Amino acid sequence: MSGERRSGVGVSPGTAAGPVVQVAPPVKAPADEPAPADAEAAAESVRGALSAVGEDLDARAAAADEHAQPILKATAMIARDKGLAKAAAKQVAAGKGPATAIAAAVDEFAAQFEALGGYFAERVTDLRDVGSRAIAHVLGVPTPGVPELSGPSVIVALDLAPAETAALDRSHVVAIVTEHGGRTSHTAILAAQMGIPAVVQLPDATGIPAGTTVAVDGDAGHVVLDPDTRLLEIQRARREKLAAALDELHGPGRTADGHAVALLANIGGVDDAVAAGAADLEGVGLFRTEFMYLSAATLPSVEDQADVYRQVLAPFPGRRVVIRTLDAGADKPLAFADLGEEENPALGRRGLRLCQARPELLDSQLEAIALAAKDTGAEVKVMAPMVATTDEAEWFATRVRAAGLPSAGVMIEVPAAALRAHHVLSHVDFGSLGTNDLAQYTMAADRGEGELASLLDPWQPAVLQVIEAACKGGHSSDRPVGVCGESAGDPFLALVLTGLGVASLSMAPSKVPAVRFALSRHTLAECRSLASAALDAPTAERARQLVKAGAKNEVTDLL
Ligand code: PEP
Ligand code: MG
Repeated sequence: MSGERRSGVGVSPGTAAGPVVQVAPPVKAPADEPAPADAEAAAESVRGALSAVGEDLDARAAAADEHAQPILKATAMIARDKGLAKAAAKQVAAGKGPATAIAAAVDEFAAQFEALGGYFAERVTDLRDVGSRAIAHVLGVPTPGVPELSGPSVIVALDLAPAETAALDRSHVVAIVTEHGGRTSHTAILAAQMGIPAVVQLPDATGIPAGTTVAVDGDAGHVVLDPDTRLLEIQRARREKLAAALDELHGPGRTADGHAVALLANIGGVDDAVAAGAADLEGVGLFRTEFMYLSAATLPSVEDQADVYRQVLAPFPGRRVVIRTLDAGADKPLAFADLGEEENPALGRRGLRLCQARPELLDSQLEAIALAAKDTGAEVKVMAPMVATTDEAEWFATRVRAAGLPSAGVMIEVPAAALRAHHVLSHVDFGSLGTNDLAQYTMAADRGEGELASLLDPWQPAVLQVIEAACKGGHSSDRPVGVCGESAGDPFLALVLTGLGVASLSMAPSKVPAVRFALSRHTLAECRSLASAALDAPTAERARQLVKAGAKNEVTDLL
């Protein structure tokens, strides 16, 4: 195994090495668990499991930071709740096996918590986590979730839920590797957001024994098992050379002949905003507001939301901040913005469609943003996700203006909106290409389906052609069109997008320096000729090759 190299898809740039920490998946009670032969012993094992979970969580709380500590303590209290143990014991007495009894008791309590609403409803996720841990304990299988980290770690999982990724301890995680997951899955996006190198779609990642040292290359998408010191040295030298070249350049995005392309940050909450505010970039091109509520049971009050927006806007006086209204549904389900089961959620009532069905969600957000905007010097803009028609754009712009906000925009992430951009944009002030969803909907390939990575490739000439149509619509309606999908952070694709006419590129801040560097080495005319080469290419792979071959050597050599 020593030196074995495996290839996946690199989704967050950079290299790092460290020992593997495997994330065990959630555990369910086996469907065929037999009735206990000894009911008293089974009841005792249920009580023992719940109390062991309580002790484990207490120990983790003692070692956790100030943010995680109260959450872990509250979860430990659920595990020690006498009512839960009693309910599980009752299930055992009724003839259920210990794991099934715990699952049934958890379901019963979850229904009660949900009915109580508010604080209790918010604890349902913690309750289910306790159940899964206790079931793992009685079955004698590894505890689910990310284990406690005591030093630099490479997190390896089958897949990570966005909420799990967001909760990772940033001080210890040096890289993320998953066996599933796609290029634009929200886990990949969060990893880039955190500036952590990440590779998805790595064959048999979960088979790598815990503790194995691996070297992760988030640019090339490679993982090397038990790397020799020579490889680690090469990676370190490359990191240093790249950092030296990128550190020389500062300031706004410009092509070699001075054409401005604003370099902006994608953020998902207050911590990201503080980090992006301190970075060398021109503002925020996409604030994914739904990321703050992935595990919330209710949308907070207007005042509480306004407080958060104030903190997000504060680091950007004099700079733009584009706040996207809730993009709930499909791969980002929000408990409080659920319109019930759908056969095909990615094509269902998600994004703006959901807010049209529940306008109070949008209005409370707009009211909070307007309150916060008054108190900061940031240039606040609001944009809607998943707009498909001119009517939707007009509906949104009217509500934004009614809330007293000065600038309304739309995401262009549905091919219909891209093809009709001239008309759609005439109702708003700007457009922003969401190339993640645009690739998904143009290629009819689920963005979360890692196995479809080649169809979801934003270099697909069909996707580039749809982007070109949107840029033409922006030009003819005299509205700026930017890009805020993951493609904006690919330095070579950034050249193509610039050539197609985009006005801004918004990405995880960790990706900005390489994009700034690539732009600075090419004129606008060169970007245009790279764009037309990519558009004329027969395949995504050929488009990528042609652009890399046509780009300046100093850029291809370094990036
Ligand atoms: C996109 O679809 O490209 C986009 C930026 O939005 P999200 O990834 O949050 O769906
Ligand atoms: Mg999108």
